Amino acid sequence: MDYHFGKLYSPPMTPRNPSNMRPITLAVIIHMAVSLYCPHCNKHTALSIAPAEYEDGYGGTLHTGAIWKADYQRQWWIGVCNSCKQPSLVLNNGEVIFPHPLPSPTDPNIPKELARDLDEAKMCFSIQCYRACAVMARRCIQSACIAKGATAGQLVDQIAELAKLAVITKDIQEWATVVRWVGNDAAHPNKDEVKKEDAEDCLRLAEQFLHVIFVTPAVAKARRAARGKP
Ligand SMILES: [Zn+2]
Repeated sequence: MDYHFGKLYSPPMTPRNPSNMRPITLAVIIHMAVSLYCPHCNKHTALSIAPAEYEDGYGGTLHTGAIWKADYQRQWWIGVCNSCKQPSLVLNNGEVIFPHPLPSPTDPNIPKELARDLDEAKMCFSIQCYRACAVMARRCIQSACIAKGATAGQLVDQIAELAKLAVITKDIQEWATVVRWVGNDAAHPNKDEVKKEDAEDCLRLAEQFLHVIFVTPAVAKARRAARGKP
């Protein structure tokens, strides 16, 4: 699962050169694209640089990519979704994208209430609200533990109960013990700042936790049913 919303890669793109136009006098080959969950259609797709067209002052038309070099370090460009063709404004290789890309979709096998919490955690992460992300991700894990019969008071103990019941593996239990914000209360005012890495750890663990508990058994059940086995 990838929580980085702007990943750079470079498919080739050539400026348009329709046959009814004069030959292109300024040919720019643009290598710039970003993969993401599109803020308009929510599909995992890529933004390609929008073609810009302007008059050359001599009756001709120039074609280039829609880029504005603000300074040596900042290059803004208009990205067009390869799927829905809607535009977004992008800084460099996706450091900033307007409108903000949507988080990865949550598996439909996860119960609705938990999926809503996980989606909220992802949304918080995507807008750099790391404390809120950690709180929501931690809440997801705790709700999943309770749904699976854990009765202990502390989250770490609830996770241990699930491992004892073989609902989760020892590996996941060990992973949970090293995720800092699972052992702490991210909502407590006296606690340390929640860093991006803390929030990301907590978010990854929460999603993996829900996958192991809800998605894997549902997929296995569907496969058994497809093969006519009880
Ligand atoms: Zn789109």
